[in-house]
Amino acid sequence: MISDLELLGIWEAGFDKSVIEKSLLLVGAVRRDLNAGQVASMPVGQRDAILFDLRKKLFGPVFSNKAKCVACGQQVEWEMPVDSIRMHPDGLTEENTAIDLEHSGHHLRFRLPNSADMIVLSRLGEGASHEDELLKRCLDDSTLPDNLAEPLPWELKSAILQKMEACDPQADIAMRIRCPECDHEWSMGFDIMRYFWAELDDWATNMLQDVSLLAGYFGWAEKDILEMGRFRRNAYLNLLNR
Ligand SMILES: [Zn+2]
Repeated sequence: MISDLELLGIWEAGFDKSVIEKSLLLVGAVRRDLNAGQVASMPVGQRDAILFDLRKKLFGPVFSNKAKCVACGQQVEWEMPVDSIRMHPDGLTEENTAIDLEHSGHHLRFRLPNSADMIVLSRLGEGASHEDELLKRCLDDSTLPDNLAEPLPWELKSAILQKMEACDPQADIAMRIRCPECDHEWSMGFDIMRYFWAELDDWATNMLQDVSLLAGYFGWAEKDILEMGRFRRNAYLNLLNR
């Protein structure tokens, strides 16, 4: 389990990083057996599954937020159990991500997209094709027949992208929201990375306030306050609030 001291350190280390890099810091703290390169090479869905589990442990089993109804503009509050969108891809491990695809007589092999791919895609200039770059990175060249010149036929690209999605359903989560005002129902993507880090931002801000209160009153060091269990720290805060 990540301690409060460590969590605050991760929050600080992530302040000037992209949201993908921020998430990799969190995943790296859970998977200490992996180095940074291995964490970045994890399929996106596997990375997100770790984020779902960590979020549940740290901040509880339910996601909640607000969304604007696309039909009537009403603010809709939604809640969603973490477990309802946490999937369990069978047999998907960082060593086992090579996918085979038979398509119009070709036998191709590719791997699932990972965070390192996403970081490269996020830095592509305007006009560049994200799909082409992704396929270039993920396709095993040695399985490409010589007569299949670049660019790949559209049907083949689309077949590969569909298979990628099917093999890593955790990577792209959508949820249904219903407006209680007008009954309109729509689908909305859920980005665990942004959601989790926004919560971590709030948590860290509150934690710094608590630390400054306790440090100011008792003269304790930040490290000692952060290493104190949450229960005892809250008990001291309750004393101050009396
Ligand atoms: Zn509505």
